[in-house]
Amino acid sequence: MTSFNDLGLNQALLTAITAGKYTQPTPIQAQAIPPVLQGRDLLGIAQTGTGKTAAFALPILHRLAAGNRRPAPKTCRALILSPTRELASQIAEKFRSYGHDSKLSVATVFGGVGMNPQVQALARGVDVLVATPGRLMDHMQQGTLRLDAVETVVLDEADQMLDLGFVHAIKRISQALPKQRQSLFFSATMPQNIAQLAAGFLKDPVRVEVTPAATTVERIDQQVIFIEAERKRALLLEIMANPDITRALVFTRTKHGADRVARHLAGGNVPAAAIHGNKSQSQRERALADFKAGRIRVLVATDIAARGIDVTGVSHVVNFELPNVPESYVHRIGRTARAGKDGMAISLCSQDERAYLRDIEKVTRQRIAATDRRGDEKLAAATAAEPRHESRPQQQRPHGQNRNNPRGNGQRHGGPRSEGGRSDGQRQQRQGQGHGQRSHGGGQRSGQQAKATTH
Ligand code: AMP
Repeated sequence: MTSFNDLGLNQALLTAITAGKYTQPTPIQAQAIPPVLQGRDLLGIAQTGTGKTAAFALPILHRLAAGNRRPAPKTCRALILSPTRELASQIAEKFRSYGHDSKLSVATVFGGVGMNPQVQALARGVDVLVATPGRLMDHMQQGTLRLDAVETVVLDEADQMLDLGFVHAIKRISQALPKQRQSLFFSATMPQNIAQLAAGFLKDPVRVEVTPAATTVERIDQQVIFIEAERKRALLLEIMANPDITRALVFTRTKHGADRVARHLAGGNVPAAAIHGNKSQSQRERALADFKAGRIRVLVATDIAARGIDVTGVSHVVNFELPNVPESYVHRIGRTARAGKDGMAISLCSQDERAYLRDIEKVTRQRIAATDRRGDEKLAAATAAEPRHESRPQQQRPHGQNRNNPRGNGQRHGGPRSEGGRSDGQRQQRQGQGHGQRSHGGGQRSGQQAKATTH
């Protein structure tokens, strides 16, 4: 089994890894670090939870330290592009902690906060710049940053970038980068539009793909409670009375919904805050910090705001509303069961959300056990108004799929699955609908398998 000592990283990084209590590289780290250290381009198919940040941060820090150059004013040596501010902050945090002893400067550039502190940080030049595309372009246009000295560029969560409409920004940014550079490209999925973007961005890349053999979903105890929409808020308060719920993420579909739910919880003496795109950066950071520090027990979030949030110890994820994109369900519940831990996910499903539930069960290939609020499965099964699978027309299922997947006892299903958990037909259909589609799963260290090939 590969150890961090075998990968060729410098001593300062190995010390930081040990301090971070990582005992063994994750599959993507074992496969990606050696070629990136050699200066190769990389196409990484992996999602949050697989350890992909360290897979690029560690070799980049190594190469920057070995290069032993100072960044010129208004330039950066490594540029990491991230779709959201939260992810950008977290990536920068990881660079700072892994690079603690390497004496390299790390800065962030994203919207929602003032330009001036960023302008000042860039004026001196930085070794590592983590940026969202929009604000990065603002700096380029204002002449407060040039990209002609970039040695390594990372495009992280490329599929999410495209979902958020950053495709033109990325192309413009690519044009401003030097031709001679190292490029790393990460995406959870590789539909055709992403593959095209990657092809224009990378030169002779090593391809590393992490296919979780058993996904996060399977390690999470999942339940669904059927409930009328108007009774959900009262039920949520009842659920939160359970002392086992030490740190919960509650998901709503809309920003206003998140605010309403957070207010209702706070009114019921459950300290909670909402996090979504209408909040200022400082409000979002404060809510996240309070949640991480345990000052609030519940964080109510929308899908985009929660993307990439890496908070350990989330005991429960509650889907106050089910997402209409099944992959979002997988991402949501993946916020619990981080770093090898198990977790619990409770979904509140109203009559008009049953179709969403069916889609989720199709994508995850699991039947989610119905319970009542006391966790009584039999009663819930009796009160569930309609059968969830049997009434549907016969679906074409991918080869090897267990049709009924009898999992009514809450046991995790460990059957075989194809990449992304969907047939190609389903995948294409979803693309045609323009959904932000991503492969599901990820996050289980031991279960991941990585394939490294050149193409
Ligand atoms: P990422 O996929 O980069 O968002 O990482 C997910 C989580 O796994 C983060 O909390 C990391 O700190 C953690 N992590 C990354 N690499 C390792 C490792 N080799 N061993 C244990 N945890 C890790």
